[in-house]
Amino acid sequence: MAKILCVLYPDPINGYPTDYARDSIPQITQYPDGSSVPTPKAIDFTPGQLLGSVSGELGLRKFLEAQGHELVVTSDKEGPDSVFDRELPDADVVISQPFWPAYLTAERIAKAKKLKLAITAGIGSDHVDLNAANQHSITVAEVTYSNSVSVAEHDVMQVLALVRNFVPAHDVVRSGGWNIADIVEHAYDLEGMTVGVVGAGRIGQAVLRRLKPFDVNLFYNKRHQLSTELEQELGATYIKDVHELAAKMDVVVLCPPLHSETYHLFDTEMINSMKRGAYIVNDSRGELVDRDAIVTALKSGQLAGYAGDVWYPQPAPADHPWRSMPHEAMTPHMSGTTLSAQARYAAGTREILEAFLANKPIRPEYLIAEGGQLAGTGAKSYTVKKGQDTPGSGHKE
Ligand code: NAD
Repeated sequence: MAKILCVLYPDPINGYPTDYARDSIPQITQYPDGSSVPTPKAIDFTPGQLLGSVSGELGLRKFLEAQGHELVVTSDKEGPDSVFDRELPDADVVISQPFWPAYLTAERIAKAKKLKLAITAGIGSDHVDLNAANQHSITVAEVTYSNSVSVAEHDVMQVLALVRNFVPAHDVVRSGGWNIADIVEHAYDLEGMTVGVVGAGRIGQAVLRRLKPFDVNLFYNKRHQLSTELEQELGATYIKDVHELAAKMDVVVLCPPLHSETYHLFDTEMINSMKRGAYIVNDSRGELVDRDAIVTALKSGQLAGYAGDVWYPQPAPADHPWRSMPHEAMTPHMSGTTLSAQARYAAGTREILEAFLANKPIRPEYLIAEGGQLAGTGAKSYTVKKGQDTPGSGHKE
């Protein structure tokens, strides 16, 4: 029988909800590329309910315990005395979420002698040291596409929030004021601007598709150019060199995974090569950018705004400089864990577990690493290098 150790973010401060703002969520049956949403044999939860926090348990307890498996769910993930560290040595499966990541460093992997599968309940497995996982032949899987559109919607919202200066405008309303000039001295229309998406995969393409009706000039970068048909549908032009893209854009949206090629991609040099007054939106991973370079550029006016919902480490400390820098539209890491997204990644986690527990292959698009090497989606989107600078590799800011 397997032991499944699941790390989720804490319940709401006022307790697990007893009712919700809406009675149902729309039923999505397939993703934009035609692939199917998760297809577990059954689910034991009501879509639209809070599944991503500890009491929600991703809706897994009934299913696992009915088969005699052990499920441990905790939010206590930091330090040698944490529940996570105590339970890890005999866990067969670890489930973690990027929103509240249980960093699976090489050190922790070395202690997890029975670990065979690390599931990301969501997308993005940089919290796992992929080198160490490969050395120990641990399968790493995530629920590909489950929250890509959720994040793309957030990206578009933050582009508009920055360019139109929404957050300070809203603050004026909340504080009883009405000084319009103070707000509009930093507010523009998005129409006509040049927008570039770095790492135009599932999220990035969804961002391009959503921005097209705003009559902007769209560009993108990724490892391989998209087909001519798709480029025409999205109305976007390929720029292979990310430096060239950065220098031309009014707005840059960062969408690649975090790995050795993308770590601190937007550092002081790259930011200083951008147009003065450019904007950056980053809902992908905090360490795609240099934390302090962002703060400096916002203070000097080199950047007109920065928005994102990804930080390092997570949870971010109370004194993290991104909490108090000017011209920001930050959120805590939540873009990919709306109630809508949770229903999909909870179902996908169950689908992966069903396959693993029945000794059946996991869908290739869910795979990041398997059998000691990158696999499936991981082989297309990640690189592994010794000493890679990702949180999972134990890197400290
Ligand atoms: P994806 O695999 O579909 O797309 C990633 C794209 O990045 C691919 O097209 C790949 O070719 C490209 N890429 C990889 N390395 C690159 C490089 N060096 N330069 C340029 N492009 C590069 O994944 P996705 O669903 O679009 O998700 C992307 C990332 O977004 C995830 O890895 C994760 O870090 C992040 N994410 C964040 C949240 C959130 O809640 N904020 C949720 C989901 C995903």
